[in-house]
Amino acid sequence: MHETRFSFISKVFKFLSEDEIPIVVDASRNWRVSYPTLALANQAPAPLYFSVAAHRVPEDGSLPRRGKQFFSSAHVFVLDDVGTKVPVPLVDPSYVLETSPGNFQYGYMIRPLKDPGAFQTGMQRLAEHQHTDKGAIDAVHLFRLPGSLHRTGFVSRLIFTDFRKRKPFETWLQEFGVHHQLPKTDTTRFRGPGRPTTPQAIAADQTYHWLQANRLITEPLNEAGWVSIECPWQHTHTLTTDASARYARYKPGACAFKCFHEGCVHRTTNDFIRWIMEEKCRAELEAAQARNKSYA
Ligand SMILES: [Zn+2]
Repeated sequence: MHETRFSFISKVFKFLSEDEIPIVVDASRNWRVSYPTLALANQAPAPLYFSVAAHRVPEDGSLPRRGKQFFSSAHVFVLDDVGTKVPVPLVDPSYVLETSPGNFQYGYMIRPLKDPGAFQTGMQRLAEHQHTDKGAIDAVHLFRLPGSLHRTGFVSRLIFTDFRKRKPFETWLQEFGVHHQLPKTDTTRFRGPGRPTTPQAIAADQTYHWLQANRLITEPLNEAGWVSIECPWQHTHTLTTDASARYARYKPGACAFKCFHEGCVHRTTNDFIRWIMEEKCRAELEAAQARNKSYA
């Protein structure tokens, strides 16, 4: 999944029209806007960001300035602070970017959307359902590029890509269980994993207790309601270091499983539950065999 900063931009902004361009901004150069080709050809690590919106090129051919007045069309929406402030979404993204250790941005590519108001309203709904940070929802928002330098020295890296996955914004929102027309007070219809789990729901979660009893939990409950676990399919992971194991997650009370490894992209919560059932059966069978032996 090797992507350069330039190929990333080309793929995300594949459906540009003649009068618009993606913009890239260098935070170390006073947030100066530059043409992607120039900014990205510079191989020195830099804190580079891109706007989710392609910007309209002014008629005199000068560079557009960053801002809503130059908005032309949105090509991607990004969920910010996944894994720290917001829970891991169960809707598979077009890409996952690790921006600092353990902090992820989930990108979902959309068909070009010309209406900044519709974009912002949809993002607002996603934020209300705790799928993203409320501060990262505007139609020209800047997000880090792959290869972007963090102040800690960490360089952003793509850990998952599926650039074939591009859908209308509305379709993605439906997959998240978020509807534009949904009144703020009506939460009864929404039963997605973004809902906070109650202590009662966690206490009643048999799968969670089984994971605990079998010492498969590697990191305790985080603020977003997820625990890190050992992935049952670790042997299929391409990276087998201990650090990579932390990417598998389980959400107690909501019974949701998610593993970030390429080999696990197709695994669902159902696969995970099936695996546990098989493990339980195997354990019971072994116990029965041991009992028979001791009687013999
Ligand atoms: Zn896995």
